[in-house]
Amino acid sequence: MSQKIQSVKGMNDLLPVEQKDFKLTAAFWQAFENTVQKWAARYGYRQIRTPIVEQTGLFVRSIGEETDVVGKEMYTFADSNDRLSLSLRPEGTASCLRAVVEHGLTHEAPQKLWYMGPMFRRERPQKGRYRQFHQVGVEALGFEPAQIDAEIIAMCADLWRELGISEFLQLEINSLGNREERAAHRAALVDYLRRHEAALDEDSRRRMDTNPLRVLDTKNPDLQAIADNAPRLADYLGEESRRYYREFKDLLDGLGIAYRENHRLVRGLDYYNHTVFEWGTDKLGAQATVCGGGRYDGLMAELGGKDTPSIGFAMGVERLLLLVREHGCLNADAAPAVFVMQQGEGAVLQAMKYAAALREADWDVLQFSGSAKLQKQFKHADKSGARFALIVAEQELENQEVTIKDLRGTHGQTTVPAAKMIEQFKLWSE
Ligand code: ATP
Ligand code: MG
Repeated sequence: MSQKIQSVKGMNDLLPVEQKDFKLTAAFWQAFENTVQKWAARYGYRQIRTPIVEQTGLFVRSIGEETDVVGKEMYTFADSNDRLSLSLRPEGTASCLRAVVEHGLTHEAPQKLWYMGPMFRRERPQKGRYRQFHQVGVEALGFEPAQIDAEIIAMCADLWRELGISEFLQLEINSLGNREERAAHRAALVDYLRRHEAALDEDSRRRMDTNPLRVLDTKNPDLQAIADNAPRLADYLGEESRRYYREFKDLLDGLGIAYRENHRLVRGLDYYNHTVFEWGTDKLGAQATVCGGGRYDGLMAELGGKDTPSIGFAMGVERLLLLVREHGCLNADAAPAVFVMQQGEGAVLQAMKYAAALREADWDVLQFSGSAKLQKQFKHADKSGARFALIVAEQELENQEVTIKDLRGTHGQTTVPAAKMIEQFKLWSE
């Protein structure tokens, strides 16, 4: 026998059944996707689908060369024909805005868009952290501050409510101000970090020069005091930024959405300004952030478009669904409604015809393949999770009848003329 070929490390199969080390099934995923589609539509957001591969330059320019995502985690390769550098997308915002600029989508009207799909980052795989993972993201392009910021937070909260996980998610917010304010803060921060250089770890020392804000994000327990006492962005915000941040918080208060202000929340990507936020949980161990986002007003212009106020967020589908599976609610019933079984000469064909008629009436039907003993077929029916069994054996064939058994409810078993089959199912499933 040839050797088996394994899947790529950190990239999961979605199966009809749970796996030992990956509990999410395709049916569960599908149920989530359905929920998301309806949720986005309720808020007037329309779907956009972009390619999984983009020019590497798109991510370098938007996310930033010095970020972990672009600097260390991207799957990058040269296209063989023209040696253009291409990358698997590590996130969705850059692609989305690239497409919006390319097709002039915001020329006519502002846009509310959402997307869903796989993203790729070469990270150390562990529970809740994968190399192919999935995001659902939302981008609101061309809307003025505060109101839209609050709307997309409310939108998240709404989804958490629907998934039954509100009580397990905490919202943290911060304001990064504008470019000048960040520059002033950055200078003070670098100055402060230099004074504490001896105490920093290697990562933070490197970031001090490349991306000092990220030092505030450090998870190293030894550096918490240094990060806590570092100069705060809030102290560098001008009047305009402070007013806008205040307005945003007032709206959240008015909507009854609880939040915690976290001065050290800076987000990993370069393009953010003003409002940033994250939804986290203490139920997923170290992989605690389920959803993150913020405002990125300069990005559209950076990508060759018109200056457009923009805000968005992305949630990690795997993390979210692990949380929903453990603590929330999502109906992922993939069981057929009817399990059809047959026995005896000519029964297969007749049962196939009944199954076809049921399907035409929009019932999900699973027909047993083969002619095992009915007793064995009943075992399969049970295992399938079907609500009803339809039995076509010698007696039924002869009398042009069908036997229907309620496998989950209280109706028991009955035999009716074949012409009354659908009527009977309807009656019993009311
Ligand atoms: P983390 O700090 O956990 O690495 P991040 O800041 O890199 O997250 P974002 O770029 O903000 O993540 O992406 C938004 C969301 O996508 C995250 O909050 C998380 O839920 C999810 N996510 C990011 N990277 C991964 C990954 N490698 N595997 C699974 N989910 C991920
Ligand atoms: Mg990361």
